[in-house]
Amino acid sequence: MEENNILKIENLKKYFPLRSGLFSRLAGKESSFFRAVDDISFKVGQGEILGFVGESGCGKSTMSRTILKLVEPTAGRVYFNDTRVDSMGKSAFKPYRRKMQMIFQDPFGSLNPRRTVSETLRQTIRIHKLAQDKVQEDILIKQTLAEVGLMPVDEYWDKYPALLSGGQLQRVSIGRVLILQPKLVIADESVSMLDVSVRIGILDLLLKMRDKYGISFIYITHDLITARYICDRIAIMYLGKILEIGPTETIINHPCHPYTQALISAVPVPDPTAEIHELPIRGYVPTTPEDTIGCCNFAPRCPKRKNRCRAKEPEMIQVGDGHFAACFLTDKDLNPI
Ligand code: ATP
Repeated sequence: MEENNILKIENLKKYFPLRSGLFSRLAGKESSFFRAVDDISFKVGQGEILGFVGESGCGKSTMSRTILKLVEPTAGRVYFNDTRVDSMGKSAFKPYRRKMQMIFQDPFGSLNPRRTVSETLRQTIRIHKLAQDKVQEDILIKQTLAEVGLMPVDEYWDKYPALLSGGQLQRVSIGRVLILQPKLVIADESVSMLDVSVRIGILDLLLKMRDKYGISFIYITHDLITARYICDRIAIMYLGKILEIGPTETIINHPCHPYTQALISAVPVPDPTAEIHELPIRGYVPTTPEDTIGCCNFAPRCPKRKNRCRAKEPEMIQVGDGHFAACFLTDKDLNPI
């Protein structure tokens, strides 16, 4: 593993059993499982922000929870700073877990309504034994509140969550993570519940955490606009798989995969005179595994599909500098120019 990768994921899978026959499940038939995360591999560099973009249900959250061992993977390997962590027991994993934190989508639900802002941060400090005494705790709380932009600090010290706005609550959640000095933060739809006007402030705070402390991020979203704002690279996910991954501007300006092209063409342009070239996606996300086993999982909906897309699963191939896509249409051997 190269020195500057904080996280390396190899062939990660998380399958959930379907309510089909017990015997076919015991026999390990693929169609007896819902493949929420299906053979995903990627790396996150030190201080890098890697975005995962995809429709609801494509497996973004399951992937994050599997990386953090909140759910056990079905298969695959997770390396944090060169150390394999997926096979560790709970206590061995604990110090790594502290360095891998998560910011959740719902700041209202993720904070205890009966604790003030300072009590919330104090609890984290005590659980992780980050201070010697109450004076040190107070100093750490004040520093953290200032760091996440909740100033003047005294104004927020005794406030309960119900008295804070969504943006302010998300800043408290971020403070609770920042206080642990993480190396990797998974931000799961962290701005999607916030008012558009406060989103940018939270994204800027994440960027500040990256620039000041070198924290790496996995930024999970269904929104290409915020992903473009914050991410160094973007991975496009569909039905548990990465279909395309590359530098942000390459993905936005030169998407290869028909699914990425469709997502980008659906982003609203703030110009009423602009011509709209939306790429139509047919049908719905397949709900039965049979529809996608052994073929391109986007084939049933792909506006550009060919016969071979139904016959075989495309492999991820390099299509540019740091740019990879899993689509036969991008394979120059199959599609000579
Ligand atoms: P969203 O943006 O809506 O949160 P997502 O891309 O994060 O969606 P996941 O929440 O990871 O998607 O879910 C992926 C798929 O796995 C969904 O179809 C979901 O129903 C299924 N799934 C998730 N958890 C379980 C579970 N415990 N048992 C069975 N299926 C599950």
